Amino acid sequence: MTTPTAALDTVRIAIARACKDADRDPADVTLIAVSKTFPAKAIETVIGAGQRAFGENRVQEAKAKWPALMAKHVGIQLHLIGPLQSNKAKEAVALFDAIHSVDRDSLCEALAKEIAGQKRAPLLFVQVNTGAEPQKAGVLPQDADAFLKKCADVHGLTISGLMCIPPADEAPGPHFALTAKIAKRNGLKLLSMGMSADFADAILLGATHVRVGSAIFGGR
Ligand SMILES: *Cc1c(COP(=O)(O)O)cnc(C)c1O
Repeated sequence: MTTPTAALDTVRIAIARACKDADRDPADVTLIAVSKTFPAKAIETVIGAGQRAFGENRVQEAKAKWPALMAKHVGIQLHLIGPLQSNKAKEAVALFDAIHSVDRDSLCEALAKEIAGQKRAPLLFVQVNTGAEPQKAGVLPQDADAFLKKCADVHGLTISGLMCIPPADEAPGPHFALTAKIAKRNGLKLLSMGMSADFADAILLGATHVRVGSAIFGGR
């Protein structure tokens, strides 16, 4: 079996190669190691190999695992990559350094209130449902511009980038390209896109944050 440390090296090498192919600076691509479902022990192995940015998809699970890990290891950057309920905005703002799943007004309102109250401002990404999948969170591509304007004008939120999860049964490239296009015309610099199977494609299309789980930690 490949150890998480060896797997992390393989992913790092693949990211470096994709950056070279895309003529991009590797410093502009953040690898987020997605540790959902994995216990603290497995996570500590990866921290030991120098990884600092991690992703979780559930607030409760992250709250159970990460405060202790963050107390023990300096420089951890925690990303919420899963859907967020408005009633968990308080916990999310307190724990996470970035939230990748902003997608509706009620959540914007709750986040704005917590950011002001806690004086903590996680990096915010708006999730775009590029495949218009009914089961998936995110704003529809055709609604993205108006939603981004509302985030700023109505809610006073600073949105730094966009996030997408392409449909599992489609080639991801067009979804990454569409997300990059929406970001560009809205003046957004960050792009959270690409997972274990397609992070190299995502980097070629401009990803600044790749969310890689199973390629590092193994199957879930
Ligand atoms: C689980 C998850 C990932 C990581 O997926 P892998 O295929 O294991 O790399 C990335 N993004 C989101 C939103 C996820 O929920």
